[in-house]
Amino acid sequence: MKQVTEHVYGVDSGDLTAYLIVLPETVTLIDAGFPGSLGLIEDALQALGRRLGDLRDVLVTHCHPDHAGALAEIERATGAVAWMHPLDAELVRRGQAFREFHPAPGEKNRVFVEEVISKGPQTIEPAEVEHEVEDGGVLPVAGGITAYHLPGHSAGHLCFLWPQDSGILFLGDAANNVEGLNEPPIHEDRSLLLESLRKIGELEFEIACFAHGAPLMGGAAEAFRQRWGARS
Ligand SMILES: [Zn+2]
Ligand SMILES: [Zn+2]
Repeated sequence: MKQVTEHVYGVDSGDLTAYLIVLPETVTLIDAGFPGSLGLIEDALQALGRRLGDLRDVLVTHCHPDHAGALAEIERATGAVAWMHPLDAELVRRGQAFREFHPAPGEKNRVFVEEVISKGPQTIEPAEVEHEVEDGGVLPVAGGITAYHLPGHSAGHLCFLWPQDSGILFLGDAANNVEGLNEPPIHEDRSLLLESLRKIGELEFEIACFAHGAPLMGGAAEAFRQRWGARS
């Protein structure tokens, strides 16, 4: 586990980083991790002096197995409720982890699909999603978190903006920072994805927390504008 800001911690589950927002009254989890990640979350809470029951809300950016795979087991152990966009919630409720997708341009991404994604889980344990969130919805969680519908990687992909701790955007897989700021290795619709990346640059946040790759710790919205421009 690594501390990102005063209240935010990253928990690594395979190549995914889930995030905890830790407040005196509640703990919030951003993305559930691969199937079998409950133990990692439990260890992280214990290290913070908190209990499983302190986890009230799980905000899931999208349906893929590294993000929603452990949702059912976490809900069972904690009683936490899940928040998702309706388009991806529908898949998670029936245990479907992917729609049809395509690799991003480049040989490396094609190989990543063949060697990593195709060999990983294609289904997940079906999980309840208690709350469906539309674009611009403000969740009554951690003092208020705004959800933005930013499709392209998946049809129901959400990013979550927490205005505290300087303003943190939790990106999910809308972009990654594995080898610098980049688009994800797969997408369902690349033109929608590129539109979403431009839209992200128009949001107000200083810190970007990625599901894959290190956080950007300042001027993060500006970094998106430099990389992908702003919408015309
Ligand atoms: Zn994904
Ligand atoms: Zn991912």
